[in-house]
Amino acid sequence: MEAPFSQTTRAAALAAMSTEPVDLLVLGGGITGAGIARDAALRGIRTALVEKGDFGGETSSRSSRLIHGGLRYLEQGNIGLVFEASHERRVLLRIAPHLVHPLPFLFPVYRGARVPAWKLEIGMWLYDALSSFGNVHMHRWLGRKRVARLEPRLRAKGLRGAALYYDAQADDARLVLATMRSAAQAGALVANYAEATSLLKSDGRVRGAAVRDTLNDRTYTVRALVVRTTSTHGSVGRCGTAARRPARAAVAAAHERRPRGGPARAHRPHPRRHVDVPDRRAGDVRAALG
Ligand SMILES: Cc1cc2nc3c(=O)[nH]c(=O)nc-3n(C[C@H](O)[C@H](O)[C@H](O)COP(=O)(O)OP(=O)(O)OC[C@H]3O[C@@H](n4cnc5c(N)ncnc54)[C@H](O)[C@@H]3O)c2cc1C
Repeated sequence: MEAPFSQTTRAAALAAMSTEPVDLLVLGGGITGAGIARDAALRGIRTALVEKGDFGGETSSRSSRLIHGGLRYLEQGNIGLVFEASHERRVLLRIAPHLVHPLPFLFPVYRGARVPAWKLEIGMWLYDALSSFGNVHMHRWLGRKRVARLEPRLRAKGLRGAALYYDAQADDARLVLATMRSAAQAGALVANYAEATSLLKSDGRVRGAAVRDTLNDRTYTVRALVVRTTSTHGSVGRCGTAARRPARAAVAAAHERRPRGGPARAHRPHPRRHVDVPDRRAGDVRAALG
């Protein structure tokens, strides 16, 4: 059965999250919030999510749209991150083939380049290995004549050849919507145009949030463990501790490691009631829930 996920049901979702028990309240409806809500709802956690504007209306619809293993992190020696990102790329290509498509890249090498051909070749083998040789295709080394035929506008002088390798590209905004819809289908109560205006605190702990329906100015109280994924695009009243981060850090954060915790158990009370996700460490959230 199709789960409620429409303009006509958002008011009901808002009312339900303020009257029915909710375990987890996710603030922010970008890809991080949508992913957390989906993950939590699929684990049987009673989940609500509020987004002050359109779902995916901020950073998550303004990315470079790459779903990549992180070739540049390989050079930085971040093997674990590349392994994990390659795995996620494979998962997304499998579960959302209508939104995530393979994308071939040419990495040309010129005489005297900072990354010489031999180093690139080793890196490419490692990149393939870290995806358990399960990437779209294995990389290939192309000689300069072949490269010139494929990309005639590349500078020919000094060209030694190029590595042809694969990553993927996604429709980022649609990926958010698909993830949000999937969260709703798993039972999450989701509402857009619903802004968290303040965090509710007692005994020094965050116990929930006040949420304003910006379409009719009505305010709801939602009591739950709060996860903030509001990124650089907002603060939550005076409690907005981590609202401002340099843009460069925000971009880098997309590719930061998300450590895996054990599976979260549903409905288990936990003394920690408020989790900030300013740096996209979704694993922290799982740790707090489990
Ligand atoms: C130029 C650029 C290129 C990028 N390229 C890539 C790429 O190729 N591959 C990749 O994986 N990543 C890329 N990224 C990073 C990626 O886009 C971000 O990491 C990701 O979109 C962050 O998602 P988010 O959900 O955390 O934040 P956002 O998408 O910003 O979502 C936060 C949401 O919180 C909402 N909000 C704020 N305050 C409140 C409140 N009080 N109440 C309710 N809701 C609130 C906002 O309206 C917003 O929708 C790129 C980023 C940029 C800027």
